[in-house]
Amino acid sequence: MSATVLDAFSLQGRRALVTGSSGGIGLGLARALGQAGAHVILNGRGADKLAHALEVLRAEGLSVSIESFDVTDMAAVSAAVDRIEARGPLDILVNNAGIQIRNPLEQFVDDDWRRLMSTNLDSAYFVGKAVALKMIPRGRGHIVNICSVQSELGRPGIAPYTASKGALKMLTKGMAIDWGPHGLNVNGLGPGYFKTELTKKLVADPPFSAWLVGRTPSRRWGEVEDLGPAIVFLASDAARFVNGHILYVDGGVTATL
Ligand code: NAP
Repeated sequence: MSATVLDAFSLQGRRALVTGSSGGIGLGLARALGQAGAHVILNGRGADKLAHALEVLRAEGLSVSIESFDVTDMAAVSAAVDRIEARGPLDILVNNAGIQIRNPLEQFVDDDWRRLMSTNLDSAYFVGKAVALKMIPRGRGHIVNICSVQSELGRPGIAPYTASKGALKMLTKGMAIDWGPHGLNVNGLGPGYFKTELTKKLVADPPFSAWLVGRTPSRRWGEVEDLGPAIVFLASDAARFVNGHILYVDGGVTATL
């Protein structure tokens, strides 16, 4: 048990894998975990983006390395997790990689449905299971699945994304139920609307932005830095008795109609 309450938030000596961390929210989460003391393994498919993210975080004095693999490819995931573990045990996994494809459901392209589901949902099962198989014998580990306000609420044109994030919320609870008895903590972090590649069409749409800000109790878009303290909490001993919970960091969007 920690000496003071703040010590419980320290990630000194811990090793964390953040999927989809070459940009956007994943990069912000990686930065926060690194600032709390963890060595962070960055992931993505694009080699240049990944190398750039590594350079940026190293220049900030953080301890980081890279492991490029596609989270939708079970064989690649399993080989990557073996390579990472050969260098040292993983204490933290953040399943963050995700995509958005907007189209009314009746016009949705079937291949897009499969790509979205495999990136947003299969990936958490693939990477989560591969990492949990390493964590379970050690009797400890923190897994955080990046959910969304769309784990709770829909909007026109994004039914598949909403279905994937709703399912991810329930997968989080299932992981906590099956792996909690082995000493693991599995929780979800549900961002509201944040300015990244994934939302750039919405950011560039003034009526949408005005509508969003107007219905968000905190009256603004989220900044990636807003998620840092929450990920450190869920990844740390501070969350030792928190299991199967989804923490929404959304300026209150899920609280209101
Ligand atoms: P983003 O800016 O588009 O970044 C996505 C990251 O995932 C990139 O690093 C991308 O790199 C990587 N990625 C995509 N497909 C991958 C794959 N198959 N294998 C490995 N890496 C992959 O998106 P974001 O806005 O940061 O979103 C991150 C997560 O937060 C997603 O799960 C998203 O659903 C969730 N979220 C976002 C918001 C928001 O407002 N932005 C709100 C709620 C939830 P490569 O393309 O090079 O692989």
